[in-house]
Amino acid sequence: SSFNDLGLISPLLNRLTEMQYKHPTPIQAQSIPCILAKRDLIAGANTGSGKTAAFALPLLQQLAQSSELDKPVSANHNFVSALILVPTRELAKQVADDIKSYAVHFNGAIKTLALFGGVSTNTQMKALRGGSDIIVATPGRLLDLINSNAIKLDKVKTLVLDEADRMLSLGFTEELSSLLTLMPKQKQTLLFSATFPEQVKALTSSLLNDPVEIQL
Ligand code: AMP
Repeated sequence: SSFNDLGLISPLLNRLTEMQYKHPTPIQAQSIPCILAKRDLIAGANTGSGKTAAFALPLLQQLAQSSELDKPVSANHNFVSALILVPTRELAKQVADDIKSYAVHFNGAIKTLALFGGVSTNTQMKALRGGSDIIVATPGRLLDLINSNAIKLDKVKTLVLDEADRMLSLGFTEELSSLLTLMPKQKQTLLFSATFPEQVKALTSSLLNDPVEIQL
């Protein structure tokens, strides 16, 4: 298959050509059309499968086509429309860097921010004041920033749980529950996990709405 068949718009297709991505990986070929069709998704995916692009590309496309971007950044102050939760700071940085790279042809119209522990919250609070469209965060630091009123989740339209099994096994279950109560019930949710232990299954059944399931 080819990226051209997946319904992606030219700023993304041009970027993929530049990055010499010739063909979508299996997870990308299956996920991208479902996500663009606004379905919830459960995907079994390991690191190295291309899972980041599988959610990042359709997410960027939805944002690029959303009228929210036409509003001045100050109107979106403190709110975020796409939230990606990840288990570690390394993954937060990696995913945010990947997204920024896929988004270069949107010419800065889509702001992506990584929020993780181990660095000063002050710097992150300042960065949040400029507004952001996509946030990639570890659960603990995100909760801290919410408690400091630096960000609100009530405008979240898309939630991605990346490496959900690691997130739960690292002990983020309570933080995750707290975060979920702060988001609208009506949203698109995408869950990526290498394994599906009981904890992850419980989360998928409580959180996802009629999801497409992709098991490679
Ligand atoms: P991930 O599984 O998301 O960590 O991606 C693994 C690596 O594969 C990353 O370095 C990506 O840049 C790269 N990659 C993802 N999708 C493709 C693709 N369709 N063609 C070539 N490389 C890719």
